Amino acid sequence: MNKIVIAIDGFSSTGKSTVAKQLAKKLNYIYVDTGAMYRAVTYFALENNCIGEGFFNKEDLIASLERIKITFKFNEALGFAEVYLNDKNIESDIRTLKVSQYVSPVATLSEVRSKLVEQQQLMGKDKGIVMDGRDIGTVVFPEAELKIFMTASAETRAKRRYKELLERGDDLTYEAVLENVTTRDHIDSTREDSPLVKAEDALEIDNSELTIKEQLASILEMANQIILK
Ligand code: C5P
Repeated sequence: MNKIVIAIDGFSSTGKSTVAKQLAKKLNYIYVDTGAMYRAVTYFALENNCIGEGFFNKEDLIASLERIKITFKFNEALGFAEVYLNDKNIESDIRTLKVSQYVSPVATLSEVRSKLVEQQQLMGKDKGIVMDGRDIGTVVFPEAELKIFMTASAETRAKRRYKELLERGDDLTYEAVLENVTTRDHIDSTREDSPLVKAEDALEIDNSELTIKEQLASILEMANQIILK
């Protein structure tokens, strides 16, 4: 069967990864969460004092990039691949509001981007992959056979994220989450290197009023039309 690359881009907390994960499972494809890779670099930067309250030692982080090894390992029980930094499982550590607050400045660095993009392109070289992020359809796989661009109102997205973080047991306010979502959107959309923009040939889905089941069904149908062609 014809294997394809499916690129899912969009704003923060649009539910890209939830749909991408389920889509990959249905198609028996690999799923790659590229946001987790930028979060892993940010976690490293925080742990090594390259970034923090009021400072960002970009040169230090750039010089340390060769010490950063990011890998994914499939967790059978969870049904998806967890992210590892230098062989340590950091899947839960990278989902905090603190990492979310520092990740977009880290993701503006071209040195960080080129390292991660190279790894992402390698992971998708044999196709049969669903990858989500901000620049997948524009930079990582401009030739992807199916490109989706997900949007939803900032409030809808912040509510979803807030609920998720509360369920994890994090102590935070809805306002802090909304502020983070809008700040990240702004930095991600206005950075010089690989800004978040909809690829010309991407299909836009506003999922403010859609259930996950509905989104999955429509993307799956689009994918199957291409795969079975
Ligand atoms: O997808 P997630 O919200 O986990 O991504 C975290 C951050 O990583 C984004 O806000 C963005 O700054 C960065 N990112 C990126 N390019 C990607 C994926 C994520 O710049 N392909």
